[in-house]
Amino acid sequence: MTGHRGTASNTPDLTAGQQLRRVANLVNGSTLLGLGLARWAGTKIVSGPEGLLLAAGWSLKLPVAGAFTVGNVVVFRSQTGRPLPDPRNATPALLFHEGRHATQYALCLGLPFLPLYFAAAGWSLLRTGDPASANFFEVSAGLEAGGYRQAPTRPFSLRRRRTVARTNPLQESEA
Ligand SMILES: [Zn+2]
Repeated sequence: MTGHRGTASNTPDLTAGQQLRRVANLVNGSTLLGLGLARWAGTKIVSGPEGLLLAAGWSLKLPVAGAFTVGNVVVFRSQTGRPLPDPRNATPALLFHEGRHATQYALCLGLPFLPLYFAAAGWSLLRTGDPASANFFEVSAGLEAGGYRQAPTRPFSLRRRRTVARTNPLQESEA
């Protein structure tokens, strides 16, 4: 538990924006929620770059992602039967991606990020069949950096069925 003790102090290697983000997510409660979840799940928490806290060893089924962020806390899933990896060895691209989510928490004033994110994930699921490809938050954090593949958008099923029926009734069974 070395990570979160210095949260109120100034860290010279952080940019003004990173310091602001850290303070904002502390004040809005999202980092505390992240720390609470990380501790409850028995993860090991260390200080990471950009004022982020990295928690390794998440083994609950949900969320299915390899890493997820709550406030300034980036939580990494552990591989069953494998020794706990040091989350500081995560790729810079992934840390950048999760850092963007930490910024999104700050911009959403903390916990409102969660319902907004789930709404965006639901929209993406409807449009592309996966929760990330058309999810505003994942797209602006960088799909590839987050380990996602861009799925093509698809028309709404009702509209498609009607269009298909109008153009070629034989194709309807494929819809
Ligand atoms: Zn993401």
